[in-house]
Amino acid sequence: ALKVRAKVLEMNREAARFYYHMLTGDQGKGALAYLHGRGLTDKTITRFGLGYARDNWDDLLRHLQQKGFTPEEIISANLASRSQKGGAYDQFRNRIIFPIIDIRGNVVAFGGRNLGESGPKYLNSSETPVYNKSRNLYALNIAKATKEKRFILAEGYMDVVAIHQGGFDNAVASLGTALTSEQARMIASYTGEIVVSYDADEAGQKATKRAIGILEQAGLTVRVLKVEGAKDPDEFIKKYGSARFRMLLDGSSGATEYALSKLKTKYNLELPDGRVGYLKEACGLLASLKSPVERDVYAGRLSAQLNVQKQAIEEQVKGFIERDK
Ligand code: ATP
Ligand code: MN
Ligand code: MN
Ligand code: MN
Repeated sequence: ALKVRAKVLEMNREAARFYYHMLTGDQGKGALAYLHGRGLTDKTITRFGLGYARDNWDDLLRHLQQKGFTPEEIISANLASRSQKGGAYDQFRNRIIFPIIDIRGNVVAFGGRNLGESGPKYLNSSETPVYNKSRNLYALNIAKATKEKRFILAEGYMDVVAIHQGGFDNAVASLGTALTSEQARMIASYTGEIVVSYDADEAGQKATKRAIGILEQAGLTVRVLKVEGAKDPDEFIKKYGSARFRMLLDGSSGATEYALSKLKTKYNLELPDGRVGYLKEACGLLASLKSPVERDVYAGRLSAQLNVQKQAIEEQVKGFIERDK
């Protein structure tokens, strides 16, 4: 089994090298222009070892076979697939390649961003002898050495790369999957605090809610950063610059504040019924907090914001706590 793993890792490394040379060579002019057009510098491209898979069926297969690997081995690394006729074809075609590197520096898998129209926008390696997607995080190999006290969790490859280029070496992404508790525990082994910065769309906000629970379960202090005026951190940094992103980071809200602000949008606070509805739900949320101090801080805030006696809020919260016992 050890030999199989070593072989796949060797193949992956060779593949990453091949894709990188494709991107930076004559063949890759268009792909490189695409990345430059998206604001990435050559330094960033090299740092992340980004690559390019041409729109051919067997570029990588031929290259790896020249290096002595068999089609079966190449398929086992998920770098090629078996065709109906029994041959093989490259897994990644016409895509920007993002090598996924583990904390030991091994190239364990790849993500591929479509440059054309056919097929899914992103393609990721499936499970192989060296890769389990729920036990890896994109860019953890870099972020693990950060001097920042917290990590940033983004949705996508491009977000992570753009955030790093913006001067933050502490961003990671889960790999085209919903965040897992294993990934949360991995993060918690490096830092005590994380800022979730997913996409601003509905899917991203839904995923944020889910991620907060999983990250808190792993013992992390969770903050949330929602980019305004852009669909994701990558676009935000490109439009407004990394200084503005730093400001959002510094002003990122705690999980409770985030949940309350989400809740608020559901009610019309101009109307008494709206205020009552919001307050009741908000009190339910406070009742679920473990920390009495945090409960008190937010009770005070709600009281000031909605011009309601703090005591009334406290009684409502207490009522909910009793009920839920
Ligand atoms: P871009 O800016 O290049 O459009 P993105 O990262 O903003 O990329 P999203 O659609 O927001 O793209 O997707 C976020 C992440 O989710 C991707 O980086 C990828 O990891 C994953 N993902 C997206 N689409 C797919 C897909 N079809 N299959 C698997 N993973 C996907
Ligand atoms: Mn998205
Ligand atoms: Mn994007
Ligand atoms: Mn996105």
